[in-house]
Order: sequence, then structure tokens, then C-alpha cells
Amino acid sequence: MKNTVKRIALIVNQRPRSQEVFQKLSRMLRPYKQFELSRKNPDIVISIGGDGMLLSAFHRYKDQLDKVRFIGVHTGHLGFYTDYRDFELDLLVQNLLLDQGAQISYPLLQIKIHYQSGDIKEYLALNEATVRRTDRTMVADLHLNQVPFERFRGDGICISTPTGSTAYNKSLGGSVLHPTIEALQVTEVASLNNRVYRTLGSSVIVPRKDKIEILPLSDSTHTLLVDNHVYQVEQVSRFECQIYHRKIPFMASSKHTSFWERVRDSFIGEVEDE
Ligand code: NAP
Repeated sequence: MKNTVKRIALIVNQRPRSQEVFQKLSRMLRPYKQFELSRKNPDIVISIGGDGMLLSAFHRYKDQLDKVRFIGVHTGHLGFYTDYRDFELDLLVQNLLLDQGAQISYPLLQIKIHYQSGDIKEYLALNEATVRRTDRTMVADLHLNQVPFERFRGDGICISTPTGSTAYNKSLGGSVLHPTIEALQVTEVASLNNRVYRTLGSSVIVPRKDKIEILPLSDSTHTLLVDNHVYQVEQVSRFECQIYHRKIPFMASSKHTSFWERVRDSFIGEVEDE
């Protein structure tokens, strides 16, 4: 990588601790002529807050994935997208000075809404996309790689990325997927299962090349949740989900915490000797 000035965008939530860290990190970076703090066309985006904040930073810069790399600083516990804790700013600055452009990337989900009118709208998700109905039971056909798989009845269907597998997907009973596995996971949200209605009941892990399609049987309003964004959509002929051709790049450094350590620390904690 050329030894040019790195443009760094600091994106922060409103929590007092995050604001303090933002002020401190800004003060630490300003003296270096190698860095320029700018939210316009950055090379590196540092999100300060939690995983939710990193999701917001991703959505702000998702059109620049070919140029930008992300770093997460967590002002609470260590998160899934955040490599640094708020007391590790010295190490972060050191790693930024040593950085030669190395990156570690994770798969993203592309959702295309095909409307009955023929219009198509596209969205990108870092964690997941969920299609649901809130007023009535959602009835929709699920197709996996063009195979009509099941007629779903229930609250909704969630499609998650590997890194999103520890978020809403996990609460729905889905599996935790290592982020190097390029696959999507389909999980049911409160499916109706009885002698008349039948779905698989477990989550399904779908490989990179396979398309997942959700075909609603009703024209009425469905809610599409894409990470932390909510859209009301109607007259949809199908929702098409697939792994996106670009990944989200993070700045790689020796600090990168093992995924299994993150899962253990977030959900299990220390195992006490008996
Ligand atoms: P939020 O409702 O304020 O926070 C949801 C929680 O999910 C936060 O604790 C957040 O961590 C955590 N989180 C986000 N991404 C994660 C990931 N990949 N793995 C593990 N935990 C993760 O909403 P938000 O902060 O804007 O985040 C939106 C996300 O919340 C959605 O994408 C969805 O996955 C998740 N969510 C989960 C449920 C559920 O589990 N029942 C319900 C709604 C939404 P931080 O505290 O570090 O920010």
C-alpha cells in the first residue's frame, strides 16, 4: 500500500462514554500527518459504540465497500464486529500506524424485492433480513435454489449472514455459523405447525450459490427488517436473497479476536471449575 495520508471517519453514538472515547481518539489521531479525520470518502471507518453502531456505520458507507475498511471500538463489552475495547485506543493508534492495508472480510446478504409492477428494489444486510406480517399470519412459499421447498405459515422468515448468526437468528433458535463459512441461514419466526400446516421446523443453511426466494401469497403489507432498518412493502411478488458479490472488509491486525472466543465470552462466560 502507498504511504499516503489515510482518511479516517469516526462514527459515534450519543452515549456519554462513546462521546468521551470519540473526543479522546480524535485528540490522539490529530497530531499525525499520516491521518486526516474526515467523514467524506474515508479509507477507514471507525465506529465507536457497539455492534449496533457498526451496523449504522456499515449502512452509511455500504456504497464504498471497494475503498473502505471498518474498525469497531466497543464502549461496552467486546462485540462481534468490534475488535477494540474503549481502553485500547493506544493499541488501535499503533496498529493504524503499522497498517499496510491488510483486511479480513465477511459475507453480506443482498435482498431484492420484486414488485408485481415489475419494479425491483435492492437492499444490503450485514446481520439479517426478516420478512414478516404483524396483523395476520404470514403465508408465503419458500423456494431454495428454485426448488419449491415449503409453504410457510407463521410470523415471518429470517435470512441471516454468518456474522449475523449470533444476533436475531440465534434468538430464533438458529445455529451460530463461523464467519468464514460463506452461507446464509433461513430461520422461522413462530411457524404454525400442526396436522394441517407443516414446515421443516429447524433452520436451514444454504450455500453461497443458492438463491432463497420468499413468495408471499397476499398482496397486503409485509414488514421487511434489514438490520436496524424497517420498511413496509406491499404488492410484492417475491423477496430474493443471496450472498452479495462484495464482502464487508475490516482492518486486519494482530488484535483480531478469535470468533469462538467472542461467542464464548458473549454467551457463556467463564466456566468455573467444579
Ligand atoms: P438493538 O435492539 O438496540 O440491539 C440489539 C442487540 O443485538 C444489541 O445488544 C447489539 O449489540 C446486538 N447485536 C447486533 N448485532 C449483533 C451480532 N452480529 N451478533 C450479536 N449481537 C449483535 O438494535 P441495534 O443495536 O440497532 O441492532 C440491530 C440488530 O438487533 C438486528 O440486526 C438484529 O439482529 C438484532 N435484534 C435482535 C433481536 C432479538 O435477539 N430478539 C430482536 C431485534 C433485533 P450491541 O449492544 O453491541 O450494540
